[in-house]
Amino acid sequence: WPTGGRVMTWTLVIGCEVHCQLATATKLFCACSTQFGAEPNTQVCPVCAGYPGVLPVLNAAAVELAIRAGRALHCDVQPTSEFSRKNYFYPDLPKGYQITQFARPICLGGHLDIVANGENRRIGLTRIHIEEDAGKLIHDTTGTTVDLNRAGTPLIEIVSEPDLRTADEVVAYLKALRNIVRWLGVSDGHMEQGSFRCDANVSVRRGEQAPLGTRVEIKNLNSFMHVKRAIEYEAARQISEIEAGSKIIQQTRLWDDRAGVTRAMRSKEEAMDYRYFPEPDLPLLQLSDD
Ligand code: ADP
Ligand code: MG
Ligand code: ZN
Repeated sequence: WPTGGRVMTWTLVIGCEVHCQLATATKLFCACSTQFGAEPNTQVCPVCAGYPGVLPVLNAAAVELAIRAGRALHCDVQPTSEFSRKNYFYPDLPKGYQITQFARPICLGGHLDIVANGENRRIGLTRIHIEEDAGKLIHDTTGTTVDLNRAGTPLIEIVSEPDLRTADEVVAYLKALRNIVRWLGVSDGHMEQGSFRCDANVSVRRGEQAPLGTRVEIKNLNSFMHVKRAIEYEAARQISEIEAGSKIIQQTRLWDDRAGVTRAMRSKEEAMDYRYFPEPDLPLLQLSDD
C-alpha cells in the first residue's frame, strides 16, 4: 500500500472483532425493551440492574438470531455451548461481571467471501459468541451519569482469523458482514447507534512468509472511514517504529479521528484478569437438531 512513495517490503495483517447488536425486542436475560433512544434508565429491571438474588432467563430469540448468523457464515453451530462470567469493575456494569460465552461459544469456524480491489478473497472466521452489552456512561460538565437502558442488550461477537491484508479489504469485509446481518434480520447494523462495532487487530511483517508480528488492537472505530484511516495510520506507525529499531508492544490503542492518530490505552501487562468461570445461574445451552 502507498506510504509516501516508498516501495515497501512490509505486508499488513488484520483480524477483526465485530460486536453486533441482535434485533430482539427484549434483552438477553430479562424482558426489558431494547428500543434505542428512550429516556435514560426507563428500560431497566432488577435483572439488568444487577440486584442481588435475581436470576437470568435466556432469550430464545437471541439464540435463534445467533444461529441464523452462524449458518449464513458457514460456521459449525455447536449443539452445546456455555455462558461464563467475565468479571471486572466499571460503573456501566452493575453486576460486576458480564455474561458472555468464553470456553464454549455457539459457533466455531466459518468464513465470508468478499471482493476487494477486484480480487476474490475468503476470510476465515474463528468463532461467534453471544454476550450481553454494558450500560452507557454519559459525561457532561456536571460529572458522569450512567444509563442502563443498553445494559443486558444481546450481542454477538464475530471474530475473524488474521486473514485480512489491507484496510480496503477490512472495509469490504465489514460491509459484506453488515449486509448479511441486515438481510437476515439479525441486526439493524446501525454503526452510529453502536449496533455494529468493530475492533481491528493490526500487525506488520516483512513479506507473506514471515511469522506474524505483534498485534495492536484498535478500538473506537465507529465508521468505515475511521476503520480505513486508523488501520492505515497504525500500519505506518508500526513500520516506522520497527525501522527505527523499536519493538512493537502488544497493546490496545484508541483511534482519535480528529487528530488522525491512534493512542495507547493499555498494554498487555496492564490487561485485566477477568477470572472467567462458568455462569452458575444458567444451564448449558443445548440445541436440538430441529
Ligand atoms: P482478544 O480478546 O485478546 O482481543 P481475540 O482472540 O478475541 O483476543 O481476538 C484476537 C483477534 O486478533 C482475532 O480477530 C485474530 O484474528 C486477530 N489476530 C491475532 N493475531 C494477530 C496478528 N498477529 N496480527 C493481526 N491480527 C491478529
Ligand atoms: Mg479483543
Ligand atoms: Zn431488565
